[in-house]
Amino acid sequence: MRVRLRNPDRVETLAGPLTVAEVLERLDLSPHTVLVISGGQLVTAGHTLEDADEVEIRPVISGGAGAAPRCVWVDPGGDARGCRAPAVIEEPRHRSAWCPEHFVEHVQQQIRKTIDHPPARPPHERMFSYGDRLLVAVSGGKDSLALWDVLLDLGYQADGLYIGLGIGGYSKRSQVVCEEFAAARGAQLHVVSLAETYGYTTPTGAQASGRSTCGVCGLSKRYAFNKVAVDHGYDVVVTGHNLDDEAATLLGNVIRWQDPFLARQRPVLPATGANQVRKVKPLYRLSEREMAAYCVVRGIDYVVEECPLVDGNTGHELKATLDALEATSPGLKAQFLFGFLDKHATKWDEEAGDDPPAGLGACETCGMPTTGEVCAFCRQRDRILAALPLLSADRPQADLPVT
Ligand code: AMP
Ligand code: ZN
Repeated sequence: MRVRLRNPDRVETLAGPLTVAEVLERLDLSPHTVLVISGGQLVTAGHTLEDADEVEIRPVISGGAGAAPRCVWVDPGGDARGCRAPAVIEEPRHRSAWCPEHFVEHVQQQIRKTIDHPPARPPHERMFSYGDRLLVAVSGGKDSLALWDVLLDLGYQADGLYIGLGIGGYSKRSQVVCEEFAAARGAQLHVVSLAETYGYTTPTGAQASGRSTCGVCGLSKRYAFNKVAVDHGYDVVVTGHNLDDEAATLLGNVIRWQDPFLARQRPVLPATGANQVRKVKPLYRLSEREMAAYCVVRGIDYVVEECPLVDGNTGHELKATLDALEATSPGLKAQFLFGFLDKHATKWDEEAGDDPPAGLGACETCGMPTTGEVCAFCRQRDRILAALPLLSADRPQADLPVT
């Protein structure tokens, strides 16, 4: 059988028949960190793969699953429920396994619960309502496309926003995936290119400013999300940060005791002044692995490759550390994050509450909210645009990764 592996892309040929568990063992892969797909379907550890099968093994950075072949899940009251059809995914954290149909229901329910009862907000306040216009920031990855899919299915008014970051073929492929998703669902997608709108890309901006690529990229994206939402009259910006993302961010913030970041790490950040929209993260209860599985089950095409510039990003080490803990204590990641949100978010409310930070005004350059005279985005952009001509006169432009 041909087995396609990702990150890096490679193909291994193995003689069948072999069970999924045997294939993973031969390839020295931990079952907890991958999804195995054969003939377009997810397959679990006991499934037998034949010589003629085309198999894909997708990495997902997450805590994992044991073999649980039947659809049985534990409801919030602690009772076992399920249809007992063959399961395609299992999550020890939920002590559950699901068939495709009930897995989609599980993901939708988790998102619905988050929307209806966001933590650290007044009782009865929802993340957003059916009357709100949502702008879903889509990267072309599994999380944001799955989220957009669920929000459309639940009947929300949800348009998409893709930011072209100019990261070579990776950005081009991501844009195509978002455009194809939007076309297939008949949904509206805004596309903003950093190069065309602001005169730099993530790689050239990082090179010109001397800042890290992730730093330049993050500030540019956050700014563009808000700006497009304000310009087009959206009520809410929705991002696809999942449980793994948020737990890793929390661990990083706790390790360095970054109180201002801890104060703002919440699934709902209300708008606190003019030209600002609310920001929400409805996927914080769902793992990376669950989101990847949702896309496979729903047939959503997404960009599996990682951003080629992510090397050295400490977020990955934090995720790997939490994964190691989760592997022996399923549910620990969720406990860490949800515990923080439940117990401590209220404590930080006074600092991060709904009142505008003292001295919040409008940026002299762009009019967007800032506590200074010129906002952080405009300062960064000025620095980049001042250095770019010098750079291109001096030496070739930033090497774009060839992908
Ligand atoms: P990341 O910062 O790459 O982990 O992405 C977190 C979230 O930001 C994603 O789930 C998306 O909602 C959003 N996002 C990331 N990259 C883009 C992009 N190029 N365009 C639009 N939204 C993005
Ligand atoms: Zn500005």
